[in-house]
Amino acid sequence: MKLQHLDVKYKTVLVRVDFNVPLSPEGKVMDDERLRRALPTICYLLKEEAKVVLMSHLGRPQKKKLPNGQVDVPKFTLRQIVPSLERLLDMPISFAKDCGGPDSTQKASHLRPGEILLIENTRFDPGETKGEEKFAKKLAKLGDCFVNDAFGTAHRAHASTAIVARFFPKSCKAMGFLMEEELRQGAKVLHDADKPFTLILGGAKVSDKIELIQAFLPKVNHLIIGGGMAFTFVKALGGFVGDSIVEEDKIPLARSLVEQAKERNVQLHLPHDVVAANAFSETAEKELMPVERIPPGWMGLDIGPKSLSIFGQVILQSRTLLWNGPMGVFEMPPFAGGTFGMAEFVAQATDHGAYSLIGGGDSAAAVKQSGLANKVSYISTGGGAMLQYLEGKTLPAVEALNV
Ligand code: AMP
Repeated sequence: MKLQHLDVKYKTVLVRVDFNVPLSPEGKVMDDERLRRALPTICYLLKEEAKVVLMSHLGRPQKKKLPNGQVDVPKFTLRQIVPSLERLLDMPISFAKDCGGPDSTQKASHLRPGEILLIENTRFDPGETKGEEKFAKKLAKLGDCFVNDAFGTAHRAHASTAIVARFFPKSCKAMGFLMEEELRQGAKVLHDADKPFTLILGGAKVSDKIELIQAFLPKVNHLIIGGGMAFTFVKALGGFVGDSIVEEDKIPLARSLVEQAKERNVQLHLPHDVVAANAFSETAEKELMPVERIPPGWMGLDIGPKSLSIFGQVILQSRTLLWNGPMGVFEMPPFAGGTFGMAEFVAQATDHGAYSLIGGGDSAAAVKQSGLANKVSYISTGGGAMLQYLEGKTLPAVEALNV
C-alpha cells in the first residue's frame, strides 16, 4: 500500500527509519544525510496529524559489548541524534530509553497528534538481528499502523524491519516515501534502461559482485571493472599483478565471466595502467605501471590516467550508468584520483542527459566527497539493499508489507 492511502489521522504510526548515522567520539552526528532523507515521510505524517513513533538501529552494539557483557549504552544510544533531528524538524521530539519496554509503551500511548517519539536503538535487544517474533510483537504494540522507510536495512529480515510487519494487517502498513523512491530508481535501471547502458564496478572483492554481474550481463553494453576486483580478472587473463589484491579461488569464475561477456556482446573494460605502491600505505613509494606487469612487492591501488581517460570515453557515450564500488583505495588521497575522476565523468554524462544511479556504500561516499552529489541522477542510501534488489532478489522488509 502507498503511504498516501494509509489512514493515519490521529493514529499512532510506528515508523522504521534508517538513522544509522556516523557519530563522532563525542556523539555528534557527522553526516545527517540519512536523517534528512527520512524527513519527507515524517513531515507528511505530522501534516496528516498522526502520532509518530520512530525506531531505528544504530551501529552494532551486540558485537561491541562492554567487558562486563552489557551493551555500551552511551556509545550506541539513539539519544545522541535527538538534537540533530530536532534542528532538522524545527520542533521538540521526545525520547524513550527502551524499545518496546515500559518507557516507550507509556510515552507512545501519551503522544498527541503532530508529536514525535523516538525510541531507543532496536539493536539493544538481541532479538532484533535474530528476527525474533517476541521482540517484534512488543514493537508492534507501539503503533496502530506501520510504515517502513528504512531502505538501507530492507535486505535484512530483522525484528524491526520484516518481522514486525507481520503483526499489522495489509490495510495498516505501507512503505515510506524514501523506500518507494529507492525502489523506483532501482527499477529504472533494472527494467527501463536506455542504451548504451554501462555498469561500472569496483571495490575490493569480485565475490561480492558476482551476482550483480550475472544479473546485468544480459542488459548492459559495457562493463567497466576497476578497483581491487580488477586484478582477479587481469590475473585470469594471464597478467602479472604483483602483490595486488586477488581472489585466487575466483580466477576460474573471472575467466568464465569474461567468456560470458564476449558471448553476450558486452564490451568488458579493464584498467590499462595503474597507480602501484610498494606498501598499502599513504606514504608508500608510488609508480605508474601497466596493469599486467606489476612486479612482486608492488600492488595496484588506483587506476591510472590512461585507464581513466578510456573509461571516461565509455561513460560519456552512455545513456544509463550504474556504479558500485570505488576504482581504488580512495580513502587514501594518493589513490583517490581514479575514483574522483570517474565521478567527474559520471557527472558530465548526467549533465548531457544520461541517467546515473550510484549504488550506495563506498561509491556514494566517494561521489559525496568529490562534491558532485547533486550532479548525478540518484545516490542510493542502501549499499547492500540496493545490490540485493538489483541482483533481482526480493527484499524481506518490502515483501513483508505486501502480505
Ligand atoms: P567494496 O566494499 O567491495 O565495494 O570495497 C570497497 C573497498 O575497496 C574500499 O575500502 C577501497 O579502499 C577498496 N579498494 C578499492 N580498490 C582497491 C585496490 N586496488 N586494492 C585494495 N583495496 C581496494
